Amino acid sequence: MKPLIFLKACLLFFFTYAGCQEPAPFKLKEEKAGHLHNPYYSNTDTVTLHVSDKEWKKILSPGLYAVAREAATEQAFTGKYWDTNPRGTYYCAVCGNALFRSNAKFASTCGWPSFFKAIRKNSVIYKEDNTLGMHRTEVICERCGSHLGHIFNDGPPPTYKRFCMNSISLEFIADRNL
Ligand code: FE
Repeated sequence: MKPLIFLKACLLFFFTYAGCQEPAPFKLKEEKAGHLHNPYYSNTDTVTLHVSDKEWKKILSPGLYAVAREAATEQAFTGKYWDTNPRGTYYCAVCGNALFRSNAKFASTCGWPSFFKAIRKNSVIYKEDNTLGMHRTEVICERCGSHLGHIFNDGPPPTYKRFCMNSISLEFIADRNL
């Protein structure tokens, strides 16, 4: 009996210890990656930010600043997310606000990551954009006011919308325990 009790105690200790310890380092590593010098970045805080472009310029990479704060568009078929779709969540690369779930992403031929709906109705806001001789609707992060891309009416069901996003404006974090 004694060896059996010892074995049960070992198994209990192993599963308790593994269950408590395994996820934390993964989450910390994912959330902190690339944001050590961005004090505004958070995947959980939804309070609206009021940060000047002058300050964002000190924090963000030149490429992200150009897209997020100056509404530049990255070249089609070059971004890191345009043809990928693992299960997880896409966050704003500037502030960490949750924007899209992978189950709303669809294969698009346009060369930019495309989604048919946002993760929450108020996670993004919309603004009329008449630049470059076109009439479009710009999509902006609700928390930090950064440019993400545009929305079009040629998406798949059920919404028939296409959120056409810049990869550089997004940060993907995979679901755990797949
Ligand atoms: Fe943001």
